[in-house]
Amino acid sequence: MKGLSIVAILAVVGMIFLIGGVAAALNRTLTTARCEACGMEVVKTDVSTERVVSSDGEEHWACCPICGFVVGLYYEDAEIQGQCFACNQDIDVHLEASQLSYVEFSGNKEFIKVLVGGMCMKNKLVGSAACAQAVHQSYEWATDVPEKTLQEALMIGNNKLATMTVGYKPISIPALNYVLIGTGVVLLAAAPITWKLMNKRSESPATN
Ligand SMILES: [Zn+2]
Repeated sequence: MKGLSIVAILAVVGMIFLIGGVAAALNRTLTTARCEACGMEVVKTDVSTERVVSSDGEEHWACCPICGFVVGLYYEDAEIQGQCFACNQDIDVHLEASQLSYVEFSGNKEFIKVLVGGMCMKNKLVGSAACAQAVHQSYEWATDVPEKTLQEALMIGNNKLATMTVGYKPISIPALNYVLIGTGVVLLAAAPITWKLMNKRSESPATN
């Protein structure tokens, strides 16, 4: 009876490790991605993250509006789904044959701007002058960041496209997840072995 409970504990703990490791890895795969332009890791739901849908229906990810244009331009025909960094309103920019085609936005499209801070973390999409102002005032790094029109930002993306290798980049799974999965598998494998060994040991005196 004591042997059985040791085996059960091994199996249960092994299962917990295995499920925990797999769930963590799966959760990471579902909720994060890497920018197809610069490789930066992004949380898919982050306000700065852009989802780019190419004409074949495939989804791609970008970390900022400039990388969004780089990725969109790479696929030539694409819908770049972004959000205003200040008010979270959806701003969907459609590219056709690498040109701005049209924009889906509930506000006045003329006021959509891209704050271009020179690095991905400082490139932000905004939907109105008030939102642009809010970003300038709320973040120290954004105080002097210039505002570009979508067309100007597209040109910046076009220049960057030549210097970047665009394409799917797999996310890295933390070593801890592999350790959890590995430990789980070892414990699960150990459970039946332990069971066999214990049975043999308990049988041997009887057979003698
Ligand atoms: Zn990027």
